[in-house]
Amino acid sequence: MPPQFPSIQSFFQSTKSSSPPQKTIKSTSAQVGDGFTTEEVNAILSPSVNQFWTPPKEYEELEISALQTGPRCVTFMGRVVNLFDQTSSSKMAQAAKGCIKLMVRDDTGATMVKLWYANMQYQLRLGHLVTIWTPHISNSEAGSLALPTAPLYTSIFPERDRCCHIMIHENSDDGILCKTPLGYRDGHELTGLMTLNNFIQGGYDVSDSRILVCVKSIGARKKLNNKKGTTLELVNVIVFDDTAEATLTLWGSAVNSVSPWQVSSTVLLISNPGWRIERRAWISLTANTYVDLDPSMTDAEWLRAFAQRLTKRDHINPPFPEGAFDIEAAKTSPIRVLYTLAEVDEFIRAAPGETFTGYLSTIIMELNIMSLHRRNMLMCTECCGVPLYANATTATCKQCERPVPLSTNPRLLGPLVDETATTAAGKLILSPTAWAQLLGRSPEQLVNSSAEVLRYLEARLLFLRVTVCFAWVGGAEGMGRLCVWGVRV
Ligand SMILES: [Zn+2]
Repeated sequence: MPPQFPSIQSFFQSTKSSSPPQKTIKSTSAQVGDGFTTEEVNAILSPSVNQFWTPPKEYEELEISALQTGPRCVTFMGRVVNLFDQTSSSKMAQAAKGCIKLMVRDDTGATMVKLWYANMQYQLRLGHLVTIWTPHISNSEAGSLALPTAPLYTSIFPERDRCCHIMIHENSDDGILCKTPLGYRDGHELTGLMTLNNFIQGGYDVSDSRILVCVKSIGARKKLNNKKGTTLELVNVIVFDDTAEATLTLWGSAVNSVSPWQVSSTVLLISNPGWRIERRAWISLTANTYVDLDPSMTDAEWLRAFAQRLTKRDHINPPFPEGAFDIEAAKTSPIRVLYTLAEVDEFIRAAPGETFTGYLSTIIMELNIMSLHRRNMLMCTECCGVPLYANATTATCKQCERPVPLSTNPRLLGPLVDETATTAAGKLILSPTAWAQLLGRSPEQLVNSSAEVLRYLEARLLFLRVTVCFAWVGGAEGMGRLCVWGVRV
């Protein structure tokens, strides 16, 4: 049995010149400690920001535009609109392993914060709300950082200097502070704002060009080795607006930013983007770029609503719109209207905003249970803008590596016909109840059924006459598809 606690001699093992070799120590292959507890080692190797930091003296709270150069204890708050790793290590701070340059802005202005670190790994993201305490503000070094919009900078090293500190507001950010883009006034166009298509067609030449884009899909993180032997991480994000689409590449520290981003919901206002226009447009962050995450401006709301409408239309397996209409009322109503498919079509065209429910008597013309089972596609959903298929009720997204619940693939049900018309395959949105009524089993039972059972199920349902209980949701809530809340076999 190896000793739980190392003997005192084991700490002096490395000095070879001393006393004759001690056989007992050599024979123990067990790992001897170095006298430090795990907590002590962790505190050095992976330190965390000291949440209990208290300012050693008075710090004046200022807006960024009010900052002035010189030694003075000030504190300010803002959002991270750009961050990049400093490539060359400066001789000035030998103790530091590196530096992250943050561009921080509030509603009045922007400033650069050089955040030096030794062992700390700051998990900073674009859009993070941060508070900085610093005893000194400097003028930008001539030629290097001279940004007209952010003329000043401060250099902080919280691990070594007790006078400065950074606080990342992870839980205390209500998403309201510092959300208005610089220079934006309600009801006025933001200067330099153009559509993505205009930007690609030559708008990139305009100084102060800005684009407002929504996230379409997030690629997997990749690691590249450069010639110096260091590893660089990057992630590609497809972004779009109503006119075009482009790929935004983030590098290094900025890569972490994408983890909370949501497809078809996260909107980015990118000012002065870096660009490369080839067959497709590549957008990147340069030192001059500002990225405002979900800015508070009317155009951003419009773009998000536009993206949501597109998703509803294009989603491979849109969720059943629970709550968009009253299923209970439809179930218990004494008036039950039996429509033909042609009549439904006529009604919708006549009154597109109307929400109504009814019944259809149709025949199932095709089922794809067997073919989807063979292709491992019985269940599906979308995550990070990428379709995800499996013969299972959950799967792991390859992009965000999170487990995602899957629901029955709508393409399982082929066209339904009646005497007047037909539905397109896979376009109906069935509720979980409707699927259970049609297939006579739960999703778990479906994916666990043997091929033999599925073949029998398919043969039994094919050319069967079924009554479909449907609802049409009109207006902005609607998704342009029939929603099926029940199937009577
Ligand atoms: Zn995902």
